[in-house]
Amino acid sequence: MCGGDFENVNLKTVGGSGTWAKHCNQCGGFWFEREPTEFLSLDSINSVDVPTPNFSLKQMDLVCSNDNSLLECVERDDLPAGTRYWRCPDCEGAFYPKGQLALVTHHNHDVHGEHIAGLVSTRSRTTLAGVLVFVGATLMIATSQSQIEFNATSDQVLPSSGPNILTLLLLGITYLAGTILAVLGRKVPIVLLGWSVIIICLVGFSVIIFGP
Ligand SMILES: [Zn+2]
Ligand SMILES: [Zn+2]
Repeated sequence: MCGGDFENVNLKTVGGSGTWAKHCNQCGGFWFEREPTEFLSLDSINSVDVPTPNFSLKQMDLVCSNDNSLLECVERDDLPAGTRYWRCPDCEGAFYPKGQLALVTHHNHDVHGEHIAGLVSTRSRTTLAGVLVFVGATLMIATSQSQIEFNATSDQVLPSSGPNILTLLLLGITYLAGTILAVLGRKVPIVLLGWSVIIICLVGFSVIIFGP
């Protein structure tokens, strides 16, 4: 409506996924093809918008860029004074004038901070578990391969040395148990125990791979 150009900006949600918005380079407004249903991350909003209560925002006749429907003004009593944005009654599009998207996001973080912290901690736990399982699987593969080479040479020299498949399996299971404790443990001693198990297993793996 202001005649400015839109540029696409990728905004992150607190859950770690991304959502696209169009950002007007003239009026600083944001258009979402689909109004975000997840909370947006404070960091990604702070880099593109500054909370600005605007008491002079009048009822504007804004038109949806998808279907030319007249947008409806959203004024919620639970939002801070001076917050106003627009929503399309026919598609899921939403328009936030400059400063309003940051206002709504800051408000969401103030009110739902505890819930958001829970989401972030679940995400970091999932990432940690993924990394640990990946490291464990890589070590298992590396160890079983080094075992074959080790046995191949030791067959001629020392037939009885070298780890057997049972040792490897036991080490893998112990490592997995340590991972579960470290990731899911809610008390500090349990988490420490988990990490100790992981470190002992890593030492075990390195002894098998590189020799004592
Ligand atoms: Zn504009
Ligand atoms: Zn629409």
